[in-house]
Amino acid sequence: MDDFQTALADLQAQHLLRQRRIVDGPQGPLLQVDGKSYLAFCSNDYLGLANHPALLAAAQAGMQQFGMGAAASALISGHSAAHEMLEQELAAFVEMPRALYFSNGYMANLGVIAALTGPGDTVFGDRLNHASLIDGARLSRADFKVYPHGDTATLARLLAKCHSRRKLVVTDAVFSMDGDIAPLAALLDLCERHDAWLLVDDAHGFGVLGTQGRGSLRHFSLRSERLIYMGTLGKAAGVAGAFVAASDNLIAWLLQRARTYMFTTGNPALLATAASASLKLIAAEPWRRTRLQELGAYLHQALRGLPWPLAASITAIHPLLVGDNQTVQALAQLLRAQSVWVPAICPPTVPRGTARLRISLSALHTEAHIDQLAQALGAAATALTRTAP
Ligand SMILES: *Cc1c(COP(=O)(O)O)cnc(C)c1O
Repeated sequence: MDDFQTALADLQAQHLLRQRRIVDGPQGPLLQVDGKSYLAFCSNDYLGLANHPALLAAAQAGMQQFGMGAAASALISGHSAAHEMLEQELAAFVEMPRALYFSNGYMANLGVIAALTGPGDTVFGDRLNHASLIDGARLSRADFKVYPHGDTATLARLLAKCHSRRKLVVTDAVFSMDGDIAPLAALLDLCERHDAWLLVDDAHGFGVLGTQGRGSLRHFSLRSERLIYMGTLGKAAGVAGAFVAASDNLIAWLLQRARTYMFTTGNPALLATAASASLKLIAAEPWRRTRLQELGAYLHQALRGLPWPLAASITAIHPLLVGDNQTVQALAQLLRAQSVWVPAICPPTVPRGTARLRISLSALHTEAHIDQLAQALGAAATALTRTAP
């Protein structure tokens, strides 16, 4: 027990101790947290759909028809007509032959990587990939090679000297803590030349990028039998769950071998009916994506005078690169004191020395919200530079 106490005290001393806050009421730009109202820039509900009445109504209708729990794994009796319909809609939406609905993105990544690769194979991953892609590679027991962020030249060298039976490149499409986009066309080109598969994790691009929000592959107009697409439904889609889309054969194989699909209880059908409703809104309401672009440009203008740079981004993720853990924690705290909530992101979520405020935008934010954030950040920056040694 003492071990844990010491380890926790150590985290606290390094300003790395994480804490949860208790949110009351639905998600949105304004949040009730620990009994107080906050202007929030901390969610992945990029399109502002998490509390949309059409989604709530679809969930209610789903509950009426299918009840609450799915009661078994999908391969036993947990795969409902609502799940079946959602999978067909998802495949059509991302313009791929077939889709498989998973409980969430973490499980999808673990399941796919471990089902496609094993000992003797090699997985290649960008250094800034999401934890679930890293864990999937470890779980697979394949060789795991990490290339520097966005470095396709290094990846090309690694692929060229690899003689594994099967090669799989895995990448975030939109990097979750940076908001930048992977060079997907170049990655696919390398995969074509080196006979490798490409798994694209579009957790932050699905709904946000591409015509009608169809995602990163559409953004770059990419199509290939080598592509395996993973999209999540808990972020821009505002619901929960995830899906993998690929060729018929590949999905048929996942159905037989993805352990995180086979050995877990199906998500409630009401989540599938809600996700179907979300897909319709994502396609039918381009104004949500237009707003994200307008607000992003406005944010970059509004934060120009700060001592820290805001990384360039055309996505909904705009990191303010502060550097050290202590400063970023102090900054977040000064913002909270002004009723503004922006999460401080520290190692191990990001590399050491690159702690940041992760400002994420929603289509439901307004210019006035951003003015308020800019003002609070300006005041916090002044307070911090005054107290600096
Ligand atoms: C959030 C996220 C996941 C996990 O998805 P969940 O559905 O939340 O489990 C996977 N990959 C990336 C890049 C993510 O940001």
